[in-house]
Amino acid sequence: MIKVDKGKCIGCGLCANICDEVFEMGDDGKSHVKAQKNLPCVKEAISSCPVGAISK
Ligand code: SF4
Repeated sequence: MIKVDKGKCIGCGLCANICDEVFEMGDDGKSHVKAQKNLPCVKEAISSCPVGAISK
C-alpha cells in the first residue's frame, strides 16, 4: 500500500508532478494518494521526495 506521511510531507509537489496518476496535492497543501497503482513512477517519487515521506 502506497502511503504519504502527512507529518513529514512539506508540500513541495514533486511526487504529484512525477506521478500524477497516483499522487495529488490536497487542500491541506500535502500530497495524498489518489489511486493505489503500482507504476514505475511511484518508485521514482519515493526516491525523489526530499523528506522521505512516501512509502510502499
Ligand atoms: S515529494 Fe514528498 S514532500 Fe513533496 S509533496 Fe510529495 S510527499 Fe510531500
